[in-house]
Amino acid sequence: MSQFDAGVVFGKFWPLHLGHVELLDRAASICRHLHVFVDDGPEDVAVAVRVRWVEEVCPQASVRSCPDLCGHESEYCSRNCSEAYAAFVRSQGLVPDAVISGERYGATLATCLKAASIQIDRSRTECRGREIRADITGHWALLAPPARGHYCQRVVVVGAESTGTTTLSHDLASHLGAAWVPEYGRAFTEQNGLDHTWTSADFVHIAERQTRDIEAAARGDHAIVVSDTDARATAIWHERYVGSPAPSYVVDLASAAPPSLYILTADEIPFVQDGYRDGEHIRGWMTARFREMLAAGDVPFVEVSGSRWERLRTAAAAVERHSRLVDG
Ligand SMILES: [Zn+2]
Repeated sequence: MSQFDAGVVFGKFWPLHLGHVELLDRAASICRHLHVFVDDGPEDVAVAVRVRWVEEVCPQASVRSCPDLCGHESEYCSRNCSEAYAAFVRSQGLVPDAVISGERYGATLATCLKAASIQIDRSRTECRGREIRADITGHWALLAPPARGHYCQRVVVVGAESTGTTTLSHDLASHLGAAWVPEYGRAFTEQNGLDHTWTSADFVHIAERQTRDIEAAARGDHAIVVSDTDARATAIWHERYVGSPAPSYVVDLASAAPPSLYILTADEIPFVQDGYRDGEHIRGWMTARFREMLAAGDVPFVEVSGSRWERLRTAAAAVERHSRLVDG
């Protein structure tokens, strides 16, 4: 049975880290209803995004934003700040009987609300948000999965068949110490055989699975993910095999979490027929179509050619140039 009827938690969750998750888990376990307020101030991650992070790790809570009522870090909060936040809680029609916090202001806020103060000792994973923000990559292991998904740099390698996308994406992931996401469409083709008749539904399935694999990797242990194709590229394969533009849903899948960089493998390397690949005559058309697609989009892209080493060097330099985590 829950110890309290209605508990409140305040925070910026900027970014959401494992200390927050521990606090939210504990709060949810002792309250019948948990209300989480996400401070909306000058943070560089929109409050709506931070609300979604909290919802993802604490689906049982009611999560909403709260205006920044005092304009400073919570460690400087005074009694007046707590009075203002208590008034805000009451303005939301809430009469909480517990305030759960890992910080000192929690006790003052609880007094203002005539509620119990539950102090969570999260010393094991304690880390100030600003320390994490100063070096996101260096604190990657402390970030909660949805925050990793937000900050993760996605790099997608695309190209026609037998142009070395698999080799390059794998080389690049190894070189960067990044996660590598293989091309699901290739596994699908091997499972279904060469005489498979392609339908739009196949490509929708492939695009969904590739997107899911990329997003799962982005929430994992590496700050960079290199994927061999994505849903945007799957839309081009749909044109090739079905003979008409892909459903807009496939393109929308790729737009939901766009990569920071596309890398296109040029089609000048010798064609290798391995039984699963398209004919060489189609490579030129596919490469041109990829170029056209990438030029029309908002995501930067680089085309790589030459030897395996030259391709890796060009691709790695481009990732460095477009890294959102550098100086960040
Ligand atoms: Zn304050």
